[in-house]
Amino acid sequence: MVQPQSFYDNDDAKHERIGLATLEDISKLILQSRGLEQTLLNIVRLVADRMETEACSIYLCEEDRLVLRATIGLSPESVGRISLGLSEGLIGYTAETRSVVNVGEPQSHPRFHYVVNSNEELYHSFLGIPLSDRQRLIGVMAIQTVEPREFSAIEISTLTTIGFQLSSIVHSAHLMDRLQRDSATPSSSALASKTTDPTSAMLKGELGFGGVAMGPAYLIDEHLGVAEIGDYCPVSPDVELERFAEAVEKAKIETLCLEKRIAQKLGEDDAAIFHSHLMILQDRVLIDKIRLLIQDGRSATVAIKHVISEYVETFRQMEDPYLRDRATDMEDIGRRLVAGMCGQAREVIQLPYAAIVVAKQLLPSDIALLDHARILGLVLEASDSNGHAVIVAKSLGIPTLIGVAGATRRIEAGVELILDSASGSLHIQPADEIRREYQRLELDGRRQQAELQQYKDRAAVTLDGTKVKLLANIGLLSDVAIAQQYGAEGVGLYRTELPYMARSSFPDRQTQYQIYSSVVEGFPNQTVTIRTLDIGGDKMLPYFDAPKELNPFLGWRSVRVSLDQREMFLAQIEAVLMAATHGDVRLMFPMVTNMEEIIACKEVVAEAKQNLAAQGWEIPNVPLGVMVEVPAAIMMADHFADEVDFFALGTNDLIQYLLAADRGNPAVHHYYDSLHPAVLSAIAHMVSVTGRRGKGLCICGEMASDPECFAILVGMGLREFSVSSPSIFELKAMLGKLKIDQLCELAADVLKLSSGKQIRAQVAKFLQSSG
Ligand code: PEP
Ligand code: MG
Repeated sequence: MVQPQSFYDNDDAKHERIGLATLEDISKLILQSRGLEQTLLNIVRLVADRMETEACSIYLCEEDRLVLRATIGLSPESVGRISLGLSEGLIGYTAETRSVVNVGEPQSHPRFHYVVNSNEELYHSFLGIPLSDRQRLIGVMAIQTVEPREFSAIEISTLTTIGFQLSSIVHSAHLMDRLQRDSATPSSSALASKTTDPTSAMLKGELGFGGVAMGPAYLIDEHLGVAEIGDYCPVSPDVELERFAEAVEKAKIETLCLEKRIAQKLGEDDAAIFHSHLMILQDRVLIDKIRLLIQDGRSATVAIKHVISEYVETFRQMEDPYLRDRATDMEDIGRRLVAGMCGQAREVIQLPYAAIVVAKQLLPSDIALLDHARILGLVLEASDSNGHAVIVAKSLGIPTLIGVAGATRRIEAGVELILDSASGSLHIQPADEIRREYQRLELDGRRQQAELQQYKDRAAVTLDGTKVKLLANIGLLSDVAIAQQYGAEGVGLYRTELPYMARSSFPDRQTQYQIYSSVVEGFPNQTVTIRTLDIGGDKMLPYFDAPKELNPFLGWRSVRVSLDQREMFLAQIEAVLMAATHGDVRLMFPMVTNMEEIIACKEVVAEAKQNLAAQGWEIPNVPLGVMVEVPAAIMMADHFADEVDFFALGTNDLIQYLLAADRGNPAVHHYYDSLHPAVLSAIAHMVSVTGRRGKGLCICGEMASDPECFAILVGMGLREFSVSSPSIFELKAMLGKLKIDQLCELAADVLKLSSGKQIRAQVAKFLQSSG
């Protein structure tokens, strides 16, 4: 019977919908399942149900055989029993060809291999999907139906995508299963003496900084917390006051040394934390409080303990996570003071071997004193993701896992560890299988990195020569070196709030000038786009008296704060203009919503120029731009274009304001969709306005670093992207395989779609078919 065209269309749409829902459910299943067997069984049940087939089976490669590991439709007794050679039967044929095998009436196919009591005789169609993880085949999924059935192209494509997703799930489920079995055997648990739970050879934590590290553990001794300091009988208040004054001086010198060490290793921004320690050590209120207790007859150590603990507790109670994390700084200062009392100066901690450092918590001075070159990874029991240790680990690119409960109790020095921070796991004394697997992954990763290295000095161009510009998003001084390492063509977004956040008071004009000019000098002959202070929302400055707001993201933030704090704003703009004498600088204002703000910002720029001219500065032309981060800016773009030279799309905020979904709230994460048609249509509007008005348009939100979004954005006509540096190679590699016409066609197609899910599926399919 001939079906009308629309029937096929509906059917295709239905298959696509079902496919997507199945993919989502499979992801959830892995989280709920216990062990490989159950996971695989759940998956075959789900796929058979959704694809309306009577049978679905998964075979896994095990020592050069394909072993049936889960089935719905074949006899349950066959599980573990059916084992085929790598080219035996239709399963082997799928494995051998590594491609989809679609066969009607399988029993008459020359490669059909009948296994007694398997129930295979019941089925009249066969679809084999290879499961492979990167280059390696890991198994085959087979779908069978009782009635002869022709699988549509959409069904095959969906099942291929499911197979793709399944591969990584099977792979990790396989690993986990092996791990659980291995660690349950007493021989593998060298930890037994240390741990109360002999099966726990894996600990879980949260991501601090992504990456995999392998190596022996190095335990940092639990430092003497301020609260644990014992007491002694003071000789006299005068002697104690003198000892205390000496200890403060020693602590100051030590802090200066730490600041210098970190400034040399990482840059001024990272060292700024010690500058604020120094300010605290000079704080009269703090010092007087301690002195008062000493005068009351307490020993100096107890007085320090008392006052510092009070400060630590106050910080810990604070609502703002940034300030809460500053409790660690107070502890660190307290410890340095006490060390000064006992005449101990702390020295650089030389790691005897390259190691994964395990500690309860690392105070800023611990991380400053560690021998960074030998830290392979970092495992912390504490979970402050804004803590200094994590900030430095990110700057140094050290894979870091935080919030690992019981790490120092369960891990012995020297024991072998594998840290996989992206998946939140820490393997202790891993089984050979796990180790081999990670070694292979590391090798693959290194090969991939080496392969990608070739892109460093290559331009970002499509296969047929359309060039795009890939700039970097940066925040800390240490990001400059990273951006250079990845061959960034300049900076599309320099977030200046980070140097502000790392200090204990507003950095003055001179300090800012020094920081900005060293960034600008890091990119000779390239453009550096400096954004003025963007605080408020989730980012507040510790020394800033900010109002308590019900809706901080809709409140006093970003350029609104700058315009209200005119002196601070003026100093920052003067510093940026001064830095423009060192290279090619663009200046931009964040979160602009109306014309008056732009005019007011330009007035401050004019005043800054006047001031500088009066001081003898010759400032070159600095193009001015605004960030498009709120829906109003999209609608006002044509008017804004009368006043500015360029626009920057800040999609991180734009998406949250367009879709009313807080960018940091996991509960509404699924509403925050970069490929929502409304987001793409807003971007398309900006491409059209800026094209017509001859203004620059750069996109600097995170979505530009996502290859799927990137492909669509290039197709939509965007030519300037500011991304996280490590994504540059991958984007260049992908772009080089595609033609601009294909990308334009893709963009035109997805712009017609009405759901983010459909758009994502379409672009995923496009990228898969383009290799
Ligand atoms: C943005 O909102 O997309 C952006 C780049 O700014 P930030 O992430 O700093 O808010
Ligand atoms: Mg923003």
